[in-house]
Amino acid sequence: MNHQVTILFTETQIQERISAMAKEMAPHLDREPVLIGVLKGALILTADLMRALSRLGIKPFVDFMVLSSYGKGTTSSGQVQVRMDQTMDLTGRQVLLLDDILDSGNTLAFAVRRLRDKGATQILTCVLLDKPARREVPFAADFVGFTIPDAFVVGYGIDYAEHHRELPHVGVRLETHGKE
Ligand code: 5GP
Ligand code: MG
Repeated sequence: MNHQVTILFTETQIQERISAMAKEMAPHLDREPVLIGVLKGALILTADLMRALSRLGIKPFVDFMVLSSYGKGTTSSGQVQVRMDQTMDLTGRQVLLLDDILDSGNTLAFAVRRLRDKGATQILTCVLLDKPARREVPFAADFVGFTIPDAFVVGYGIDYAEHHRELPHVGVRLETHGKE
């Protein structure tokens, strides 16, 4: 089966938005906040945002956690599991939690509770994409790249069955049948 990805946000649009978000968040950030990226989806967002913040004189520490919410296919089950935990001591630290997409809200609600339990004094959240129409638990991110309708997107770290993470843009995957 072939597949095409129809572009929703170009590489340039994403890069401009990330620079703008870094400027929005900079006044709210400590000099050395701990950025925690939720893998694998927030891989590229974390890498781009840490450099955008660096250009503004902020010196983030960087950590990651792997979370998965099990469910059928493309829907979240609401049950979040920690597959790999972050390792940095968060006691007394300001955390900027990064995820690719805010969808049902289950993943970030879980992660915020967990990081607070570990002693972070303040937890700010940032997502590249927000799908407010899909929310199951009340959750608002502090910084949102783009608000989108309910569509299944890929690219810029976001996958479909591990495909498309490498794309510099974000798009919607269309199934096509037949020869390339
Ligand atoms: P939730 O907010 O439902 O707990 O989960 C958000 C997670 O669901 C995201 O981090 C992402 O991994 C996944 N997700 C939500 N919407 C999409 C989408 O359109 N495409 C892909 N590939 N993953 C999505
Ligand atoms: Mg995710």
